[in-house]
Amino acid sequence: MTLRSSISSLRQQSLCSFYRRIVSLEEAGPVVTFTFDDFPRSALTVGGDIVERCGGRATYYVSMGLMGTTNRLGVHFDEEDLCSLVERGHELANHTFSHISARRTSFETFSKNVERCENVLRQIVGGRSHHNFAYPYGEVTLAMKRKMGTRVTSCRGTCSGVNGPEVDLNLLKANRLYGSIETLEAAKRLILENERRKGWLIFYTHDVDIEPSPFGCTPQLLEEVASFAAKHSQRLATVDDVTAALSGPGMIEERMSAAVNRT
Ligand SMILES: [Zn+2]
Repeated sequence: MTLRSSISSLRQQSLCSFYRRIVSLEEAGPVVTFTFDDFPRSALTVGGDIVERCGGRATYYVSMGLMGTTNRLGVHFDEEDLCSLVERGHELANHTFSHISARRTSFETFSKNVERCENVLRQIVGGRSHHNFAYPYGEVTLAMKRKMGTRVTSCRGTCSGVNGPEVDLNLLKANRLYGSIETLEAAKRLILENERRKGWLIFYTHDVDIEPSPFGCTPQLLEEVASFAAKHSQRLATVDDVTAALSGPGMIEERMSAAVNRT
């Protein structure tokens, strides 16, 4: 292991260990969630169709500042896509307005950027608030984890693994779904582990294209993974669907103070 990967693994370990907000998965698993970040249009026009064909709905973590733009992930969503996505039963969730890193921003600036994303989203799709959140680039600090946790229903990072039986709503684990069919076996192993543990498995990707960016996947890979996941879980649900099932009274056990005492 290189020094760099040791530091990165220590950082992940400490991020997962402190300032946790734990809920129990109880009977909700095994469940699988597909999430698309930013998001390029193909995540809806191709990716959304695939998840729907497998009987599920997906979560889209949207950075509203990217609306109508084009970058290496392809052409991003427009207003109509947001409305159609909601009509089709998918979830819109928050990914900051400007796609900024929590590691390079003060909490004040960061939280205002999250609020700005929420406000613009509400103006476009109306009433419902979007309380689930994902950190751009998966970048988060312990201080940010602690503070953001009080503002939203859940925060998703990019630490890999299966959530459950205890779920940390302040940093949901998620696994990249990038590339083409050569990564299928690894994804299947995760799905089977999730089934065995009756857990909550979250995947994330960006564009869905025959020739995807380095941060996206092919339609074939998504199709194979989603249909395998549908056979080996109770359902393919949005983050909102799962967190709603977990937030019953008395289920949340605050462990932040215990974490603080250990530091
Ligand atoms: Zn992103």
